[in-house]
Amino acid sequence: MENQNGPHLVLIPPPFHGHMTPMLQLATVLHSKGFSITIAHTHFNSPDPSNHPNFNFLPFFDGLSSTQITSKNFVDIASTLNCLYNLYDGFFHFIDSLAKELKLPSIVFRTTCATNFLTYHVCAHLQTKGYLPLQDCKSLDLVPELELLRFKDLPIFNLRNPHDFLHCTSKNLSITPLAVIFNTMQGLEDSSVIQLQQLHKINLFPVGPLHMIANEFNNISIMRESDGCISWLNSKARKSVLYVSLGSIASWEEKELTEMACGLANSGQSFVWVILPETVNNVSEWLESLSEDVKLGVTERGWIVKWAPQSEVLAHEAVGGFWSHYGWNSTLESLWEGIPIICQPHFGDQRVNVRLLSHVWKVGLEWCNVMERDEIEKVVRTLMVNQEGEELRERATELKHEIRLATNGSSSDALNGLVKCILSIKMSH
Ligand code: UDP
Repeated sequence: MENQNGPHLVLIPPPFHGHMTPMLQLATVLHSKGFSITIAHTHFNSPDPSNHPNFNFLPFFDGLSSTQITSKNFVDIASTLNCLYNLYDGFFHFIDSLAKELKLPSIVFRTTCATNFLTYHVCAHLQTKGYLPLQDCKSLDLVPELELLRFKDLPIFNLRNPHDFLHCTSKNLSITPLAVIFNTMQGLEDSSVIQLQQLHKINLFPVGPLHMIANEFNNISIMRESDGCISWLNSKARKSVLYVSLGSIASWEEKELTEMACGLANSGQSFVWVILPETVNNVSEWLESLSEDVKLGVTERGWIVKWAPQSEVLAHEAVGGFWSHYGWNSTLESLWEGIPIICQPHFGDQRVNVRLLSHVWKVGLEWCNVMERDEIEKVVRTLMVNQEGEELRERATELKHEIRLATNGSSSDALNGLVKCILSIKMSH
């Protein structure tokens, strides 16, 4: 193990893929800068130490029941973990008090976008002005203090429930780290980063996109990737394949999956489709239950995997579109490759990401319809073969060049700034 004598950092990621992956990416980058790394993690969804021989791993008791684990109820799991008694993800706000108790300096790594974090401040204001909890969660009115969002885009899990509101905002705002790291990059959300800087008056480090920066050192995933889809993509024409992956947390019912299969088959487009094992027990049996023409469409034009090497898939020249729930990691990965998208948000920060993608960066079609085969066929064809899709594709390519240019240098400056900041904190303690 290298860097065992370097300054020691303890990183504490929440046990969800979208949080764990960027934290491991950050760990890889910091290790390359000479730090010795320990990852403290829950037993639930624990990373595989053999994939990261340069880090120490320290499991801790998570207090989760097996019912909670199988339910995958994000809010419930978050509340339990935060009832437990350094460098950590903002999701784990309990660590702020723990670090203070132990007199250890702490830094927060926010794995959502900077604009999402800004909404916590805005919501706190909205609450004092009596806007929250909302009467109409689907309101299209613009948020007075953050006009790029509508009320329906706010990242609160249940906008009508004051408990959820408090959970999401006040806890997040009460923590007082020495600095905040964002997996974002220059040219994407500059005004949000500037506003946050003014509000917090502490160092903010936009070091993203970490999937690119860390992959220079290592390929990181806590799940095993399915073989075969890259060779299948090699046989496809340029920009002809839709990549479909609706997140590592969102769960779907079998009847919704069947609607997806029909819509995708009827669209006539080729696709790679991630179906998580917990969604359907036996994919072959489920395929057998479909009508002959849908089964044929899926097997002839589709490639189904349990888990895809997503960054590699999005970078493949055969991929011309992405249908996603738009977690922040998927957002960064597709923006980086210039892929236009169908965005179907489910909860939390995904709503903010989708508003940015469709309204601000104009690279995606916001799609909030129910899972119904005709609607799916229509939206897939709009993205993959219609003029509207072509325009989104052109804009996505432009944005890709803009962000690659803007990021060139700025993220490594932010990273060097972060290293200096950690070393100076260490020296003053
Ligand atoms: N991912 C992957 N293969 C898959 C599905 C997802 O590698 O088949 C990765 C994806 O590249 C991203 C992460 O899982 O880095 C998902 O994080 P995101 O923030 O997009 O969404 P979440 O799943 O946390 O809602």
